[in-house]
Amino acid sequence: MKLKEFRLRFRAWQNKSINYTVKKKGVHHCANCGHDFEGNLCPICGQSVGDGRITWKWLAYSFINIWTGDSRSLPYSIFQLMLRPGHFIGEYISGHRQVSSPPVNMLFGIAVIYAIIMHLFGIEPEPFTAKDSDLKVFITAINWLNNNPGWGAIAMTIFLTIPTWFLFRYSPRHPRHTIPEGISIQVFMSSLMLICLLFKAIHPAFIFLIPLYYYITYRQLFGYNFWGTSWRLMACFVVWAYAFIMLVVATILLKIPEMDNSFSVGKIIIMYILYFLTLIIPIAAVLFIGLWICKRGERRREQKTQ
Ligand SMILES: [Zn+2]
Repeated sequence: MKLKEFRLRFRAWQNKSINYTVKKKGVHHCANCGHDFEGNLCPICGQSVGDGRITWKWLAYSFINIWTGDSRSLPYSIFQLMLRPGHFIGEYISGHRQVSSPPVNMLFGIAVIYAIIMHLFGIEPEPFTAKDSDLKVFITAINWLNNNPGWGAIAMTIFLTIPTWFLFRYSPRHPRHTIPEGISIQVFMSSLMLICLLFKAIHPAFIFLIPLYYYITYRQLFGYNFWGTSWRLMACFVVWAYAFIMLVVATILLKIPEMDNSFSVGKIIIMYILYFLTLIIPIAAVLFIGLWICKRGERRREQKTQ
């Protein structure tokens, strides 16, 4: 009973959007430009109320602020992202830009924390060694991404932008999101991914936090139910994994003409055309069938409400 009550309260808290209040009532005199104003910020120059001589608090704040600019601080944004990811990202992409520290800054802030913790505990990733020279480019790329966790996480998630755009296009919540919004969503997901990887350092089983977080986030963000979220997300990951496998295949194909001299230009062109078709046709099929199902779902929802 107690647990149920806690869950309901937590849900209500997750659903509630972040609100803002006037910090100090009355008319203030801006210490920067001299304008008299009411509210939290000077409307002429943007300096905060109470900003004047430098205090210890302000000094500490300015160091935290390296990553955050004028919006919410990094710890606050991480806290929000971990506990109500979908609602938080939804607010950000629908125009509440000040609720979060900018997602790219946040990602690289977390990447620095991640690198420091990994280094302190001596759990740095083993570099892959290139025994097979055919895959050398690929292995170099993986090692580079391992050493640059921020870019590494982005490289993993960014390809989900396209399938997400197709499969969650007609969602009940936040429908018709744009590609730049989709990229922002994946930048937030990269931050979550790094946090999950920190947990994975404690126990390998925590790697499953990543798909779990994707599920929770997409469910809160797009508003489909359990099955609606699950199958769409599964389709996104299948497309993602297929594209990744085909990328490995491409690095192998590039080597074939070098090794086999009998390969004529005509054969090479045919090989690339076949490769391109094998890459595009299954992905396009999944995405457009998905899009069609989602569009039909939206029409049904509209009919119900009429
Ligand atoms: Zn001012």
